[in-house]
Amino acid sequence: MKDFLSPDISLEQQFELLREHLLYAKQNSPFYKRFLDKNKINVSGIETYRDFQQIPITSKEDLQRHNLDFLAVDYSEIIDHVTTSGTLGNPVNFMLNEADLQRLAYNEYESFKIAGIVKNDVVQITTTLDRRFMAGMAYYLGLRKLGAGIIRTGSGLPGLQWDSIERFKPKFLVAVPSFLLKLIDYAEKNGIDYKNSSVKGVICIGESLLNEHLEASALRIKIQRLWDVELYSTYASTEMATAFTECELHKGNHILPNLIYTEILDEAGKPVKNGEVGELVVTPLQVESMPLIRYATGDMLMNIGDDCACGRKSKRIGPVIGRKKQMLKIKGTSLYPQHIQEGMNALEISDYFIEAKKDIFGNDQVCIKVSEEFSMKPTEIQELLREKLQIKLEIHRISASELLRKKFPKESRKPMIFHDLRSI
Ligand SMILES: [Zn+2]
Repeated sequence: MKDFLSPDISLEQQFELLREHLLYAKQNSPFYKRFLDKNKINVSGIETYRDFQQIPITSKEDLQRHNLDFLAVDYSEIIDHVTTSGTLGNPVNFMLNEADLQRLAYNEYESFKIAGIVKNDVVQITTTLDRRFMAGMAYYLGLRKLGAGIIRTGSGLPGLQWDSIERFKPKFLVAVPSFLLKLIDYAEKNGIDYKNSSVKGVICIGESLLNEHLEASALRIKIQRLWDVELYSTYASTEMATAFTECELHKGNHILPNLIYTEILDEAGKPVKNGEVGELVVTPLQVESMPLIRYATGDMLMNIGDDCACGRKSKRIGPVIGRKKQMLKIKGTSLYPQHIQEGMNALEISDYFIEAKKDIFGNDQVCIKVSEEFSMKPTEIQELLREKLQIKLEIHRISASELLRKKFPKESRKPMIFHDLRSI
């Protein structure tokens, strides 16, 4: 078994891991061999952060365009083949060998530990384990390493979820937060006493549970008002192969510094101050199959400066405020779809999606499509949303079946709440 050190490593130890990673990528990754040579970067001479910063950013487009050139081990070594979620553009192939699967297991093991899960606990995984999804497998491997009990119900199927909760009495669920609302709804309609179920905590993925002021998001408030369970936010992606997890204090997600080197950069590529929003750029450490160096995630978030009162040494990042490419400019105001989502959640509207287009002058135009089965009038929604966002957005009604088709496309692993038609 590979030794991954502990998340309590010093900055010097982390930098040593980073240097090892750079040398490994330079030696083994065809993409980085070429990229570092072309940019005249001598990796063995990198001794400080300032030196490291001279390495140009790797973009999502690089990964799409030169996908297989990122492979740094022999193809025959690959065990697990997955793809990125493809929220922005085409999904990209990702591959893991034995060492990467061990790293992935270790990563989730540490993440579950932050959320307080121990060996004696039973955990129900309500996300898919297949569909080329890295995270579902990661949860399973992490729980195996922890020695916890596991129920693999997979995504959807509220009836099966409740049947499993009643049979196996899990203390924790792994779930997408908005799916919890579906579970609650099903329980209420079917007379299930969910408030007294065995479930005490949920490891949440995919949706922010904090707003940009690091307060509970409307979604968290809504779920917890209905069901008194502890919600732990996590943030991760296929490319990072690393999870950022909220501790019991729920004030930002702890970084695992032994597995990932993070930077948050402004438009000019300079690090932003703590508390300022910039783009998260990552160098996942100790990855063998597809190492990345200074990979721009497109996710806009902030570093939280002070140490966490929980006593963990590791630093924290705030929730994803938005995706860089999804920024909307409407009548001089900049906002992200996440702001609109937060506003809609606060109004307790869930059956909708957001569509962005360009008008004939090239300005962004945003329309929120709401199910016609929803009782509130579009003008009412518009007015209530304007109070929250200080901006008037178009609201259109569409049939429930069209909404379902657009929001849950068959090939997508998660709901498509934002439809960006601006480049079409
Ligand atoms: Zn903490």
